[in-house]
Amino acid sequence: MTYCMASLGLRGTEGAGRALRGRPDTGEHEMSNLKTLDEHNAERRESHRAWNIASQPHANGIACPKCGRELWDTNPMVTLTSMPAQKDVHCVAAGCGYRGYRLA
Ligand SMILES: [Zn+2]
Repeated sequence: MTYCMASLGLRGTEGAGRALRGRPDTGEHEMSNLKTLDEHNAERRESHRAWNIASQPHANGIACPKCGRELWDTNPMVTLTSMPAQKDVHCVAAGCGYRGYRLA
């Protein structure tokens, strides 16, 4: 899944930045600030879950120009590289079938 890999890549960059700025201080007082592996994994699990929800098609608060019901973002994680950038939208109302684009 490309999305997850991109997300992990971002994390890796952040981690590298922290490592570069890190002080060579190994004082014990810092150990109490460390999170456990379980805590870290729980955070990441929650973050992935939120990401998965956001990446699914969902209503976007825009009225359908054809029937007035709420439009949905068809592929929330995909932005068309037009100028200005756009996203696919579609109407889920029965019998409408509108498909189009909104500015991203
Ligand atoms: Zn519609």
